[in-house]
Amino acid sequence: MESSNNVGSISVTLLGTGTPIPDRDRHGPSQVIEIAHDIVLVDCGPGSLHRLLEAESNVTAISHVLLTHLHSDHVSGLADLLWAGWVGGWWNTPPVLIGPPGTEEFINRLLYAFEEDIRLRTEEGSVTIAGLRPTIHEIEDGWTITHHKWSVRGFRVDHYPVKHAFGYRFEYEKNVVVISGDTCVCENLQIYAQDADILVCEVAWEEGMKRAIETSRGPKRARWERILRYHMSSLEVGKVAANARVKHLVLSHLMLMNGTPADLLSDVRPSFDGKLTVGEDLAKFSTKVQ
Ligand SMILES: [Zn+2]
Ligand SMILES: [Zn+2]
Repeated sequence: MESSNNVGSISVTLLGTGTPIPDRDRHGPSQVIEIAHDIVLVDCGPGSLHRLLEAESNVTAISHVLLTHLHSDHVSGLADLLWAGWVGGWWNTPPVLIGPPGTEEFINRLLYAFEEDIRLRTEEGSVTIAGLRPTIHEIEDGWTITHHKWSVRGFRVDHYPVKHAFGYRFEYEKNVVVISGDTCVCENLQIYAQDADILVCEVAWEEGMKRAIETSRGPKRARWERILRYHMSSLEVGKVAANARVKHLVLSHLMLMNGTPADLLSDVRPSFDGKLTVGEDLAKFSTKVQ
């Protein structure tokens, strides 16, 4: 774990480096960005809330939660976070929620699903719905906010058939951190990852994926083919990072497919000679420590 006590830097903590398949060591995709005096959460997969506590993040200082897309492995921890903050009195109003088109509907349905709980707790009189329902902004390609001298820009990535999938580029005093979201190789990622100090990028081990395809039949085979098509292969991610002149490539959302971190490294290293890390849950990186 690396120090983040660098003025003017951005730090990234990986809360979860896993996939939809439960893993004791790798929780669902999520990362905490510490930027100026703010804390921003990008995605909120299963287990994120407890990883936030393990990371000793100042949960009450979370200003924004950014969602890359609405696949369950990126959002299923959101109810845990919202309810913990609400019941625990962490905030008067929850962090602003930024997400793809459909986010508002997702939250409306979530609140509806928990209608009984919300009714019981608000009737007790100690909380109101204002502490639970976040302000929501649904974004489009190029959406940006500036906040306390830092900015973040959302950009569309290619996770087809997911219609709305985004990555995020954070900038603060010439420091740049980019989160790929879920994507295959696409032009927009190449553009927005340009000169990033840190790129956190998803990856699937190509050989493991190919084996899964070759050894399955019918719908299962089609599913593996689709998964490989809309995710980033270990043979491609290094080229993307090299072309974008990324300084530090951090691999996350690891689809290891019975492979190992060493298998990922040996696929990526030939095409990328910058700093390269296979992410682990709770690993922390700073733009000033390269
Ligand atoms: Zn996805
Ligand atoms: Zn995913």
